Amino acid sequence: MPNTPISQELFAKAQTIIPGGVNSPVRAFKAVGGNPIFMKSAKGAYLHDEDGNQYIELINSWGPMILGHANPVVEEAVMNAIKNSFSFGAPTRKEVEMAELIIEMMPFIDKIRMVNSGTEATMSAIRVARGFTGKDKIIKFEGCYHGHADSFLISAGSGAVTMGTPDSPGVTAGVAKDTLTAPYNNLQALENLIVANENKIAAMIIEPVVGNMGCVIPHENYLQAIRKLCDKNGIILIFDEVMTGFRLAKGGASELFGVKPDLVTLGKIIGGGMPVGAYGGKKELMNWVSPVGKIYQAGTLSGNPIAMTAGLALLGLLKNNPQIYSELAQKTEKMKIGMQNIMQKLGLNYTINQIGSMMTLFFTSSKVTNFETAKTSDLGLFAKYFQAMLAQGIYLPPSQFESWFVSTSITDHEIERILAAHENALQSIL
Ligand SMILES: *Cc1c(COP(=O)(O)O)cnc(C)c1O
Repeated sequence: MPNTPISQELFAKAQTIIPGGVNSPVRAFKAVGGNPIFMKSAKGAYLHDEDGNQYIELINSWGPMILGHANPVVEEAVMNAIKNSFSFGAPTRKEVEMAELIIEMMPFIDKIRMVNSGTEATMSAIRVARGFTGKDKIIKFEGCYHGHADSFLISAGSGAVTMGTPDSPGVTAGVAKDTLTAPYNNLQALENLIVANENKIAAMIIEPVVGNMGCVIPHENYLQAIRKLCDKNGIILIFDEVMTGFRLAKGGASELFGVKPDLVTLGKIIGGGMPVGAYGGKKELMNWVSPVGKIYQAGTLSGNPIAMTAGLALLGLLKNNPQIYSELAQKTEKMKIGMQNIMQKLGLNYTINQIGSMMTLFFTSSKVTNFETAKTSDLGLFAKYFQAMLAQGIYLPPSQFESWFVSTSITDHEIERILAAHENALQSIL
């Protein structure tokens, strides 16, 4: 552990007045031991905590900081926007520009609605699918995380599985019975589930590349096959691209794999670090949303001008510099290969899944293709590895079931430091 007396003091106080001392469970160090570190500032690839320690950053605020922290273009845009007040509760030019830009980057979207978080986006998208189809059931995949709305806290990944609550108390049996779950990357099981629930399924929601059981990549043609199954059975296909949107490609996983969903949910990067989410898709569906249609969904701060400004600035940079994606992928792959070489030298064969700027080191020698195989990881070893990395100034997500995120601010210098820390960490825990 780095020396963090101020963090410790803040955490002690926080625990008395905030549940677990954190405003989101994934920030707690419950799965890795020790106490969370309180951050004060960040620039580029580096985080600075309250005690003045510095860390190389591989969380990226769980995704948004794809161009590193405090990007000067985004910062300047926000500074200027703030002078015009922070919120109106009336429409603004920025919201129109934002919708236009997203639709340009994800051309399968006809209409889009801004919300304030990924959770709001996914819960609204299934409401649209249910309202449109008149059916109640949805299919989600084991280990995928779609935010904390009741319908999704069934076999949920990310913080839910990290805290040992993939099925949360407080979700009523009535809600739970309408959420069906299937294993990821298994078409036969999915087909069986659809047959067993014929004409009852409104929507299927999936992370096209999973980040929330750690990084898990779809088998070849898996997403294409899912698209066909949905078409054949009148099921609305929702890609939850809250994490992958604008991270894996300019047009998200949908562009990367060449599969178009009916609805898409977005978050994280589209807010540039501000609280933003969105859902959009075919106009036949989106025209059901209030006030044009009867499906109600609203938000006092939705499309907030400061948040729109940050998102627009970041997305604009990504759109105008598409080479960012191949550069990020090369960098991340270099890191992966370096880590694999070190493990080989040490006689270890843990699995690394990587695609674009997402990757996870799983402490298992099995291939990780779904929730079941992700759970074969040795969580005790992960916890030790996490602590050993942290002690060397590398800040990883404090859970085995999360993706690491690489930003453009990570250079060869940081990669060398990460690799050296990786070797030390593995040697110290074996
Ligand atoms: C983070 C995430 C969410 C939830 O977004 P919040 O903004 O935390 O509510 C939903 N789906 C996926 C795939 C995510 O990664």
